[in-house]
Amino acid sequence: DRGPAADSTSTIADTDRHEIERLFAAQKDTALALRQSTAGERIDKLKRLRALMFARREDIMAACHADFAKPSAEVEVTEILPVVEEAHHAMRKLKSWMKAERKRPTLLMLGTSAKVIQEPRGRCLIISPWNYPINLSFGPLVSAIAAGNTVILKPSEMTPHCARLMSEMVAELFDETEVAVVQGAVETSQSLLALPFDHMFFTGSPAVGKIVMAAAAKHLSSVTLELGGKSPVIVDASADLKNAARTLVWGKFANNGQTCIAPDYVYVHKDIRQAFIDEALKALDHLYGTADTRRDNDDYCRIVNQRHYERIRGLLEDARERGARLATGDVPANDDRYVPPTLLTDVGDDARVMEEEIFGPVLPILTYDDLDSAIARINARPKPLALYIYAKDKQVIDTVVTRTSAGGTCINTAMLHFLHGQLPFGGVNNSGIGNSHGHAGFKAFSHERSVLQDRFSLAFLFRPPYNAFTRWFIRF
Ligand code: NAD
Repeated sequence: DRGPAADSTSTIADTDRHEIERLFAAQKDTALALRQSTAGERIDKLKRLRALMFARREDIMAACHADFAKPSAEVEVTEILPVVEEAHHAMRKLKSWMKAERKRPTLLMLGTSAKVIQEPRGRCLIISPWNYPINLSFGPLVSAIAAGNTVILKPSEMTPHCARLMSEMVAELFDETEVAVVQGAVETSQSLLALPFDHMFFTGSPAVGKIVMAAAAKHLSSVTLELGGKSPVIVDASADLKNAARTLVWGKFANNGQTCIAPDYVYVHKDIRQAFIDEALKALDHLYGTADTRRDNDDYCRIVNQRHYERIRGLLEDARERGARLATGDVPANDDRYVPPTLLTDVGDDARVMEEEIFGPVLPILTYDDLDSAIARINARPKPLALYIYAKDKQVIDTVVTRTSAGGTCINTAMLHFLHGQLPFGGVNNSGIGNSHGHAGFKAFSHERSVLQDRFSLAFLFRPPYNAFTRWFIRF
């Protein structure tokens, strides 16, 4: 059976609001107790989570396949590996991350001792999307556990097999007073968002990110927002085209284009446009087989549900009506939500495919004449989550990096920054607020608390009665 399970978008029932409130209240004491948890205790939990990822490997693959026919190798690389790696990295570094950081006194503060300690935020909420259902739920969970918090995790209702599996896995590892999975869609999400969590970690679309931030504002809960948007690519005339084509084709069509940092559209220098398209066509053959066999290729994923499938079809129809042409691909008309890898050329800036995040296997290839105009067109849009540059010319690379803004950037490759445990991962403004992964993830779930102790400071000079010595000291 090659295809995903029948569209199962709405097979997850919402959780009752009272049950959610009960769980939230039940986590209160545990959150306080966890403040005193040691690195060793937290590492132990991470070890057990990592072991369970391996033990449940087959189940994870089956759930991802049932939800959107995700190829098993892709599940290994993009769902299991990142979580295992995140846990492994946190286990090795946690002692140093938790260590209080001593601060030397400034001149004014002579006579004090000071340090910064990492305090757990407390009761945390994680809301995750469907596109990397396991990775984007358990990745942040690792950071939250490392930082000593309790968690309520709400996975996406659109990948119900994965959501149910995660619920089982979490129940195997944790008491619900420490970590609990709550199932449901918008209604459940909104019941959760109404509660005064200490921190809300949300991964999803910018539109829902705004809803989360507005809800957080009611309680002044801190937030991490991992959002999306249109991530552009610049392919300069100096680029290695074969490398550009192979890495972009992989970046775009892995997970069927349903990746927050997928290259959304490409600006290629006009002199190398045709050469780039030729290389991209070759790369497609190399990665996914010839056009007539791609549908049966086990390494090629499916669109998550009928609604998104219709949306992608709509984008393609709209683009074609406005004069866009298919360099490869065809109008998808199948019942297993198969959309072939599609390269679009001659796309106008007014096409819908250039307005919304594509989130599917369609890559518009646009051209530019001079770098300034490509940069200006990118800067005219909201700041993207990722921006990719292909060039050998160092000056071109420096110009693009300094004159644009993006959550993250890869040069001469795509998407790899996600897997680099030492790099903070996040967006900027419309593509997100705050960072995740590794140390940045630990910090997202921690409060940096300043602790100052007065030993023999001159602070009495700041208090009345003020005298000549005070004035002399302050001027000095
Ligand atoms: P989404 O915003 O529709 O849903 C995300 C979560 O929010 C789900 O759990 C959903 O149940 C919940 N939700 C949906 N509508 C809601 C509402 N009105 N009120 C409260 N909660 C609501 O996103 P999605 O379709 O699951 O995922 C795709 C989006 O996520 C894309 O924009 C993509 O770029 C982005 N994304 C970002 C990252 C990142 O790391 N920055 C990673 C993956 C996906």
